[in-house]
Amino acid sequence: MKIIKVKNYDEMSDAAAKIVIEAVRNNPRLVLGLATGSTPIGLYGRMVRDHRENGTSYRECRAVNLDEYVGLSGEDAQSYAYFMRERLFSKIDIPTESTHIENGLATDYDAECERYDALLASLPRDIQVLGIGSNGHIAFNEPGTPFDSTTHVVTLTKSTVRDNARFFDSPDAVPTRAFTMGLASIMESKRIIILASGENKAEAVRETVLGDIRESVPATVLRKHPDCILICDEAAGKFI
Ligand code: PGA
Repeated sequence: MKIIKVKNYDEMSDAAAKIVIEAVRNNPRLVLGLATGSTPIGLYGRMVRDHRENGTSYRECRAVNLDEYVGLSGEDAQSYAYFMRERLFSKIDIPTESTHIENGLATDYDAECERYDALLASLPRDIQVLGIGSNGHIAFNEPGTPFDSTTHVVTLTKSTVRDNARFFDSPDAVPTRAFTMGLASIMESKRIIILASGENKAEAVRETVLGDIRESVPATVLRKHPDCILICDEAAGKFI
């Protein structure tokens, strides 16, 4: 794992944007694996600004997202589909039909997971952007998720529900289940960029970088990847 330590959130976002934008310029048909949450907001803002100012085009790119809450439609303001449209897709020139995310309203979970795995097989990711949970999760692969997992439905841990409650009116409003890309699928990406900012990620970053590679800390699987870059700020990287 290559580690890039920067000062703060803005520098983390700058460093990530540089890598992603350069990759899109080099390969206009790039397949991007994308993440939601607070962490990549700065990255997406920079991609939008660069698109407007420098004309970097996403017309032929494809985007595949990691996860979606079970029970939320893409029109729900708390859904990850909505987040991606608001933060990125509606502000760049990627065609809507080239953006993909699990269907939160699917009731046949197995069928939806199979559909998504087939989609992933047809769209090998060139770059996967990841955040990290304070408990070491990546996407919604919570501690204990097998490293060989593919798309599945998870029950969110209490700590993840608590972490995500800030986006909802109350902790009770946070959905308790989600579809998530599995760890094996994440690892298929040619390159992975994992971003971490803030002190509440410091323990997870320490375990990811220095701890044993084990399923109780899902992000440790990334150390097996041949081209994974961790970009962390001073607070998140204070133990490494
Ligand atoms: P955050 O979430 O970016 O909102 O901190 C990261 C994650 O849970 O993967």
